[in-house]
Amino acid sequence: MSEQSRWRPETVAVRGGYAGDNATHSISVPIYQTVGYQFDDTSHAARLFNLDEPGNIYTRIMNPTADVLEQRVAQLEGGVGALAFSSGMAAITGAILNIARSGDEILSSTSLYGGTWTLFTSTLRDFGITVRFIGDEELPEIDRAFNEHTRAVFVESVGNPRLDITDIQGWADAAHRHGVPLIVDNTFPTPYLERPIEHGADIVVHSLTKWIGGHGNSLGGIVVDAGRFDYQVERFPYYSQPDSSYHGLVFGTLEAAAYITRLRVKILRDTGAAISPTNAYYIIQGLETLPLRVRQESSTAQDLAERLTEHPRVSWVNYPGLSNHPSHRRGQQYFSHGLYGSILNFGVKGGHDQALKVMDRLKLWLIVANVGDVRSMAIHPASTTHQQLSPKEQDLAGAPGDLIRLSVGLEHPDDLFEDLAQALEG
Ligand SMILES: *Cc1c(COP(=O)(O)O)cnc(C)c1O
Repeated sequence: MSEQSRWRPETVAVRGGYAGDNATHSISVPIYQTVGYQFDDTSHAARLFNLDEPGNIYTRIMNPTADVLEQRVAQLEGGVGALAFSSGMAAITGAILNIARSGDEILSSTSLYGGTWTLFTSTLRDFGITVRFIGDEELPEIDRAFNEHTRAVFVESVGNPRLDITDIQGWADAAHRHGVPLIVDNTFPTPYLERPIEHGADIVVHSLTKWIGGHGNSLGGIVVDAGRFDYQVERFPYYSQPDSSYHGLVFGTLEAAAYITRLRVKILRDTGAAISPTNAYYIIQGLETLPLRVRQESSTAQDLAERLTEHPRVSWVNYPGLSNHPSHRRGQQYFSHGLYGSILNFGVKGGHDQALKVMDRLKLWLIVANVGDVRSMAIHPASTTHQQLSPKEQDLAGAPGDLIRLSVGLEHPDDLFEDLAQALEG
């Protein structure tokens, strides 16, 4: 383990969390496509059910294929443990329900993925959990937004579609001043570009569906815990009070393992959004090439951003790797390897209608609302993901009518640029 903790991300991506299968010596991580596991005898079964001894019980709560994925992502993020879910949204929901209940509050940045936005403004509200919002620019006044009901702070490491890089350390310091953990959705940079735990985050969540899986074939999500937040205080009764569904266990006494253990044996057990073993396998396959893909895609995105800047039919380009981007300097602090990821936005001269014409002339770029696939994809947010907003609200949300968002894949940069150029020139 200590040797593994020194491994660089490229090594962890292909070797982390798997030392071989004792029964078969399989090199590739086996797909343990099973629901149940045989107990040695009745007392073994009873010990597992009482959490006296670790071991496999039922795939809704744990599975050996998912376990490799969990260990590997935990190592990449620098956490003490992780728990996989059936999707990114299930992971975010679980991360919050493991801390907050009816009457509690969450403080969140306004710059959020659409599904997270509606979870926070609608579904959680219906369950009695109130989410208060605060913009990145209001960070200096954040202290006023906390109260005795606040249970966590939630941010994304990169805002979309603005592509502004979040000051994780600033948000973490504020959360800790008020005795609550910081949860960071790190889907966009992936742990290869950014490790929020190193900047003060307590919990990291991912949609594995995007870059970590990377091939657009499987949904998945994960929650990683840094293991250093002390939940065994009055503010967190889930961890400081005895749990009647586990014979009075006080979860906080599990210390660094408290958060992920409770997430597994309470939230996942009771809500059931477990990842399938086969999806966990596909996502492990993707994860093995994550560093290679992120490097290539970031380099292509940088190249396209520079070439689009020069194009006469393009009015502006938004890519944090360009030195004039408002987040470029912050990226140097938070992002590794001098890379800035594979999402870039640009504005088409002529506005909304011209942007739609350019979209419809694309041949190689796929029109898809998803991101993080090996295939390059384009979307016009104003007519799709942000369609319900007024033009003014679209501008405020960073999705004006002339904007085309690109998720850069692994095709040759020249092929990708030539297709954009023919579509722009019509
Ligand atoms: C896609 C996405 C999610 C949701 O993930 P699913 O796997 O689609 O449920 C959450 N956060 C961000 C930043 C995403 O891009």
